Amino acid sequence: ADTVRLLSSSQVITSVVNVVKELMENSLDAGASSVDVKLENSGLDRIEVRDNGHGIKGEDTPVMAAAHFTSKICSTEDLEMLETYGFRGEALGSICSVAEVTVVTKTEEDDISTQYTLNFSGEIVSQKPSHFGQGTTVSVLKLFKNIPVRRQYYSSTKKCKEELKKIQDLLTAYAIIKPELRLTLIHNKVVVWQKATVADHRSALLATLGASTVANLLPCHHQQEQPELLLDGFFPKPGADYSSTSNSNPDKTFIFVNSRPVHQKDIMKLLRQHYAAQYPDDPARNRYPTAMLKITVPPSSVDVNLTPDKTQVLLHNKEAVLTAVEALLVSLYGYRAD
Ligand code: ADP
Ligand code: MG
Repeated sequence: ADTVRLLSSSQVITSVVNVVKELMENSLDAGASSVDVKLENSGLDRIEVRDNGHGIKGEDTPVMAAAHFTSKICSTEDLEMLETYGFRGEALGSICSVAEVTVVTKTEEDDISTQYTLNFSGEIVSQKPSHFGQGTTVSVLKLFKNIPVRRQYYSSTKKCKEELKKIQDLLTAYAIIKPELRLTLIHNKVVVWQKATVADHRSALLATLGASTVANLLPCHHQQEQPELLLDGFFPKPGADYSSTSNSNPDKTFIFVNSRPVHQKDIMKLLRQHYAAQYPDDPARNRYPTAMLKITVPPSSVDVNLTPDKTQVLLHNKEAVLTAVEALLVSLYGYRAD
């Protein structure tokens, strides 16, 4: 049974950034306005995520890491109006099978916080009072300690750097989509990245990408009924300096579907195509624009359950979304693909 558990968990929890993403999303689902991510040895020795959210209720703590326990949905119908990042009840339990996990939590009703130590199966093996404020802190120690090949793989200097960069990119995405969120990334006790609470997406872009980049971005908006769809974007101004608004990889092209950072190949392709058409003579035409595109559709018209990490989504009205995005880009850049 332990082997089965390890095998399925190691498929849900595949990397350091994956752990950070799951913990981060739990904090956001708990309504946190402040999240601190602390890493030691690029996350391999410790990943700690501390939030000021609503905490975990006493009745839920014994089962918080049980297989498929979630406090977020009760029925499949709830999936139709999903507003949380999580709903599968898999992350915390899976992390327990591949690392050492402690959880400190305090709700509004609790007088003091409690620290829980969980075992391989996600059961509480000990608990003691602690002194944290309201919210939850999850600590993940010795990630992949029982999967030596994987731990080894992520231990190389190159991989460590890559994972840190991916974590920073991920936090940047949440920082942009949640302007009100305060975020810090600490690596080996040094603050390597942070973002304060700001009022709107534009200010969030300023805080994360810098003033010179944002000066080259233009806000765009589109709203329609049937199918119901809302687009909010920041795209490079037509004719903006190519070198300052493009990147050789997509790490500064942020696409969100209902506030989830996603990989959407077709939409990415459209963005690149329309943006690059302005620079027909540029040798490096296949570059990616620095841009943000926020797509909002009714929760019932998107399936986020394609992959455990939920970065792939299935849009029910994908053609309509693509058409609307394309229309927005045509009105901005005047390019028509045919
Ligand atoms: P899911 O997010 O899909 O519900 P998880 O395994 O990620 O599943 O978390 C299990 C449960 O633990 C959540 O449903 C929630 O009740 C609780 N939980 C985990 N992290 C937090 C947190 N930071 N704040 C409040 N509750 C949390
Ligand atoms: Mg979760």
